[in-house]
Amino acid sequence: MLSYRHSFHAGNHADVLKHTVQSLIISALKEKDKPFLYLDTHAGAGRYLLNSEHAERTGEYMEGIARIWQQSNTPAELAPYLQAVRDLNPSGQLKYYPGSPLIARHLLREQDQLQLTELHPSDYPLLRGEFQKDLRAVVARGDGYQQLKAKLPPPSRRGLILIDPPYEIKTDYQAVVQGIAEGYKRFSTGVYALWYPVVLRQQIKRMVTDLKDTGIRRILQIELAVKPDSDQRGMTASGMIVINPPWKLEQQMRSVLPWLHEQLVPQGIGHTLVEWIVPE
Ligand code: SAM
Repeated sequence: MLSYRHSFHAGNHADVLKHTVQSLIISALKEKDKPFLYLDTHAGAGRYLLNSEHAERTGEYMEGIARIWQQSNTPAELAPYLQAVRDLNPSGQLKYYPGSPLIARHLLREQDQLQLTELHPSDYPLLRGEFQKDLRAVVARGDGYQQLKAKLPPPSRRGLILIDPPYEIKTDYQAVVQGIAEGYKRFSTGVYALWYPVVLRQQIKRMVTDLKDTGIRRILQIELAVKPDSDQRGMTASGMIVINPPWKLEQQMRSVLPWLHEQLVPQGIGHTLVEWIVPE
């Protein structure tokens, strides 16, 4: 199908949540010198022009990153993420938004590796172009779920695996759980971060049940809702499910989410959540 283009949504509240969690996990992995792999199964184009026709048509970034990137009182937990955004916009105008591969590129060290996969015929060349000169990165055009079998475990036996599909096909809700189970069989000490949208709450409840049924332990759920759950069309919330989260992540997200929610949803509706789906 491949009709989804992230350029319509880049920098929205869901990206803010996803990239905050991603950057905190990467920062935790950097506490040890040993190298690690950053594997992005659904990488997107890498960089998004915010005054493009796509981004301007929805204006989603105006209610996301635009609300927080230049604030002076931002919580410390946001520092690595916001630095990546600011470094891409040195003029002080919010022109570009960094997708997950560019945030990783900004935060990873020389000894770390990036493995990026994108399937879309228009986004793949853009992503490849971004990383042409980066010797740490391998950019592949293909099915991201296959990478969970082909590239794990990494030689370093350390890694973050970001799984961020568009959920255009309903089977994605099952495919992500299957993909995680495949990856975990090969690499049970990796950190897995799965993004999900809340469109129909029932789909997420089922996905969470399926995840519990895999027998995997240490699964943390983080969510930010901008509206109450609804049975109408459209995303009301988004979340990250993190397997083997770094020990500080739970506390960091408990601390930063209320602030983020206040900035992103000044109307005060919706909710935030940090909860173990399966503890130790
Ligand atoms: N991770 C990116 C970020 O945070 O900046 C955004 C990714 S976007 C939500 C999902 C991407 O997955 C789209 O660019 C889409 O073209 C791509 N895609 C869809 N199906 C795929 C598949 N089976 N394998 C790899 N990429 C796929």
